[in-house]
Amino acid sequence: MIRRKSDGIVYVDRELCVGCKACIIACPWDVPQWDDSQGTVMKCDLCMDRVDEGKRPACVTACTTQALEFVAPNTRSKKTREEHGQKILMKKALK
Ligand code: SF4
Ligand code: SF4
Repeated sequence: MIRRKSDGIVYVDRELCVGCKACIIACPWDVPQWDDSQGTVMKCDLCMDRVDEGKRPACVTACTTQALEFVAPNTRSKKTREEHGQKILMKKALK
């Protein structure tokens, strides 16, 4: 399991994975999944091959309602915090 220094994307190097499943046990979000056909773990790699070409992940591009967004983690959490803060302020203002 490797974390890219350039952008933090975590992916499985299937050449190196020995199938010990330690990551499956460790991950609290059940992200790593067992691939029986390969005898290795697999997980979403945010379509890093597409990202490297300047494209958005395939699922983000394909989503018909734009429910998916591809942003840097800190950007998203900052936006989420700001939106949550605005909602709280609006609720207080309406009281
Ligand atoms: S199963 Fe998970 S922890 Fe074990 S070698 Fe493969 S990626 Fe690493
Ligand atoms: S399509 Fe979406 S869920 Fe599938 S690997 Fe790409 S980013 Fe991950």
